[in-house]
Amino acid sequence: MTQLRDDDAHHGFSTRAVHAGQGPDLMSGAVMTPIYQTSTYVQEGLGKHKGYEYARTQNPTREALERCVASLEGGTHGFAFGSGLAALDTTLKLLSAGDHVISGENIYGGSHRLMERVYGRLGLSFTFVDMRDPEHVARAITPATRMVYGETPTNPMMFLADLEAIGHITQARGLLFVVDNTFATPFFQQPLRLGADLVLHSTTKYLNGHSDMVGGLLVTARDDLAERIGFLQNAAGGVPGPMDCWLCLRGLKTLPLRMRQHDAAGRDLAAWLTTHPKVQKVYYPGLPDHPQHALARRQMRGFGGMISIELGDAALARRVVERTRVFALAESLGGVESLIGHPASMTHASVPLPLRQAMGLTDSLVRLSCGIEDVADLKADLEQALG
Ligand SMILES: *Cc1c(COP(=O)(O)O)cnc(C)c1O
Repeated sequence: MTQLRDDDAHHGFSTRAVHAGQGPDLMSGAVMTPIYQTSTYVQEGLGKHKGYEYARTQNPTREALERCVASLEGGTHGFAFGSGLAALDTTLKLLSAGDHVISGENIYGGSHRLMERVYGRLGLSFTFVDMRDPEHVARAITPATRMVYGETPTNPMMFLADLEAIGHITQARGLLFVVDNTFATPFFQQPLRLGADLVLHSTTKYLNGHSDMVGGLLVTARDDLAERIGFLQNAAGGVPGPMDCWLCLRGLKTLPLRMRQHDAAGRDLAAWLTTHPKVQKVYYPGLPDHPQHALARRQMRGFGGMISIELGDAALARRVVERTRVFALAESLGGVESLIGHPASMTHASVPLPLRQAMGLTDSLVRLSCGIEDVADLKADLEQALG
């Protein structure tokens, strides 16, 4: 567990992306946070040490990352994990057997799998609802409900959840409100300011942004929650190594620059795709005809680089994902390089078919993660693949 220092909070977002939680190395003056590649720390005498005993519990590189992301999310405590799902695993460990969770139905496939197939067996119960309407959350509450969990925008349907409205419901009922902010990133959306108690990230995606590590992060501004998460982080030990923390710290420094470019590419390509004869539907919250565009404008500062397109033909979808050359066919998203994927058979294959069908996640849906290459090249690549 790492707590943010007060002096970080006064600076603007881009300044904090570069500096928050980090200072020159005390021993050498190194400007960049060193990779403290160690498992343990020497003690001068019994119980006499510099605050570092064992690297599952404390690591200076990890702490710098935790402080930086906590600052960017407007929280006070950050906790790094070995993956986004390890962060979710720890989140669910805040609960006890018998507790009930209300989750958005259109969440990351692996999150759904962890809930239903792992924690379902261990005594938690889950109700999956369409979070586009906050009333669905209110109606699913039972006496056993302890947590509400959601993503916005969702992967890959680009559904939005009204965080402020759901926050009012959870606050009135004393429920824990957890938001997976992986897609929007704190540059575009800050759930803690809108009523969430806890923000979750797969740092694998935009926060690191270079597709060269796997990681997760939790941020809260609540001291009581921080204490319990800190206990769980150490007790269960799903922590990342210092090298991956350092890569993520390095990636974070350019988060604002990258997000502006992802957003510019996303807006441009989404608008162009709506005019393409082979594309039946474009899912992108920045489009004026997105059913929740007004909400997107209200709670987000930008719309990012994730676009899903409905091609109405599964064979065409397969051809398109196999034909692009700049967009690489791969799982994952949020890197500097553009990726293309087929959610039904890739990222969301573990979501039960009836649930996929109910939310419109068809076999002819293609997902784009627009990178920071020249937009003209991305457009030309999609043009030739669709043609
Ligand atoms: C990838 C992803 C996760 C899982 O994160 P990992 O780092 O792969 O464990 C969770 N939520 C969202 C929205 C994701 O895209």
